[in-house]
Amino acid sequence: MSPPLVVTIDGPAGAGKSTVARRLARRLGYRLLDTGAIYRAVAITALARGVDLDDEPALGAIAAGLAIDFAFEGDVNHVFVDGADVTAAIRTPEASKAASLVSRHPAVRAGLLALQRRLGGGGGVVVEGRDTGTVVFPQAGAKFFLTASDEERARRRQLELEASGGAVPPFEHTLREIRERDDRDASRDVAPMVAADDAVIVDSSTASLDEVIEQIAAEVARRVG
Ligand code: C5P
Repeated sequence: MSPPLVVTIDGPAGAGKSTVARRLARRLGYRLLDTGAIYRAVAITALARGVDLDDEPALGAIAAGLAIDFAFEGDVNHVFVDGADVTAAIRTPEASKAASLVSRHPAVRAGLLALQRRLGGGGGVVVEGRDTGTVVFPQAGAKFFLTASDEERARRRQLELEASGGAVPPFEHTLREIRERDDRDASRDVAPMVAADDAVIVDSSTASLDEVIEQIAAEVARRVG
């Protein structure tokens, strides 16, 4: 049997990455690293400090000095920045958009690279994000790119917003926001969202998340040997 793997799950917003990554990590007895939460943490720190989202040096400094911690409570992966619980604050639509804007900057990505590698070091971890199989962990033992149709992803995002008790915008609004964020994430110059050449592409448009997890877990089991 080989040592525990780094398993990467990348893909666009709303494809089910978070749920799949969390459940897969639990099933494998691996840690979970949610890299999107790290970009979101930089974004809300910038917003709180009134830093312009185009100010790359200031954003890079926030990224380089980010004091972030994670702690599971039941099924919820709590996120702390400078000791304050920001779990809910990083999930607002405003934070989603700001995360995508700050993540365009090379200085931000460079500032977060070492942090992500440290948090995921040693293997035995499921990492989710946009560039985790291409840039952060190019040597990962199993890579997946999880996707779904735009409409299905917007529908799921609406359900999530509803479940979290927040205001639910019209469907078309959510669809437009998701498409804008995908376009930005896929077209940026540095570490764009793209499937690694050696990633397994999984389309969750018609499959249930249970089926997706089965498929991914079977593939990981095959690689662990
Ligand atoms: O995955 P999540 O929706 O939490 O990510 C928020 C944003 O953070 C993404 O839209 C993307 O711009 C950025 N991100 C990134 N690289 C990652 C993870 C997230 O650029 N590895």
